[in-house]
Amino acid sequence: MSAAPLTPRPLHWLRRSLALLILASALLITSTQTARAAADPPPRHLVQPGDTLSAIAQHYGSTVPALMAANGLTDPDSLAVGQILIAPPAAQPLQRIETRPRDTLASVAQRYAVDLTDLQTINHLTPGQRLTPGQDLLAPAPPDQPSPALPPGPIRSISISPAVARQGETVAVQIHIDASQPLSLSLKLDPQTAPLFPIGAEELVGLVAVHALTEPGYVWLDLSWQRAGEAISQTLRWPIPVIEAGYPTYDIILPDDKGDLLAPELVQAELERMIALWSAVSEPPSARWLFQRPVAPEYLTSAPFGQRRSYNSGPVSSFHAGQDFAAPAGVPIYAPAAGVVVLADPLQVRGNAVLIDHGGGVFSGYWHLTDIVAQVGQQVQPGDLLGHVGTTGLSTGNHLHWELRVNGFAVDPMQWLTTRFP
Ligand SMILES: [Zn+2]
Repeated sequence: MSAAPLTPRPLHWLRRSLALLILASALLITSTQTARAAADPPPRHLVQPGDTLSAIAQHYGSTVPALMAANGLTDPDSLAVGQILIAPPAAQPLQRIETRPRDTLASVAQRYAVDLTDLQTINHLTPGQRLTPGQDLLAPAPPDQPSPALPPGPIRSISISPAVARQGETVAVQIHIDASQPLSLSLKLDPQTAPLFPIGAEELVGLVAVHALTEPGYVWLDLSWQRAGEAISQTLRWPIPVIEAGYPTYDIILPDDKGDLLAPELVQAELERMIALWSAVSEPPSARWLFQRPVAPEYLTSAPFGQRRSYNSGPVSSFHAGQDFAAPAGVPIYAPAAGVVVLADPLQVRGNAVLIDHGGGVFSGYWHLTDIVAQVGQQVQPGDLLGHVGTTGLSTGNHLHWELRVNGFAVDPMQWLTTRFP
């Protein structure tokens, strides 16, 4: 039930106007190009033993990021023999998108600002063909990143995964450096600071959260570095293309007396206590594995992460900061990954709550429990019992609210069930 307040837009207004200007001009250029460039459906490739993504990319004149975006891949090293890949030429990068209820080809074309005929051709559809909600479609990718060239210096390469992020997703930023001289580095996605951790002598990785209410377009990473003995630090701006996640809007009609249920200062005090906990950065695990579902698979997801919320038909003022699972009271809740329990307490809004520190600025929360089994300071392993489903705190029925925080920002926890982060 808990929702994150509407925070200020992550970009300074000047930067944002600049980004929109660049995006607008890029869109103008591509809208005339795509009509001709994307006239043919992309080739398909049947993965053979020994195939690698880079070899396939080379064969079709494509790129690894283009293949990953078109096929929804998150790990370039996990190809399965017999898998069919779409291989868009580098000049016609594609992205995979999902249709929403009541979508038509025309509404999808409008949402992604792509040509209707292109959309039809790329997907082998006939004009006016009906779409089903949740259907996978291919669409021309957002325009090329405006200025991803690296200046000469100690930064050798930057790679982001996924190459195109949806609102509310976690993005891994991998930085390859020249480590011949000591170097201090910092990574920001304003106002978020992402801790960087070495994964080898010449490589660092940081995770950034793309805010669930980010406008589609670009967000900008600021990578600053300073060599030992040098007085001046340098900053490089690197774009992350962001597309709409298609989150639904939910209008909550509050009864007249509901406002009295919780005093704002109480809500704020509880939030500040949580912020103090999930803003801490501990060492990350030596490797991250896929997260496991916190409840058994028979308990279905209910209110999704990112659901926009308006109250009494007003404007969207907040979004759902976690993923809900519908489950009756007493259903066991398990740790999805290894970590340390940093909170196990009854709270006013979140009810009986457990918060786990997974290291490197990543935390997961479990709200509204009927009882808590885990203890503060406990080291948990995936599958360890944390407590049981309930409806304590500000909740209208038994369910688990599962929340994931990266650098203090709420991200879609479901992405972590299918994506292994470094
Ligand atoms: Zn919830």
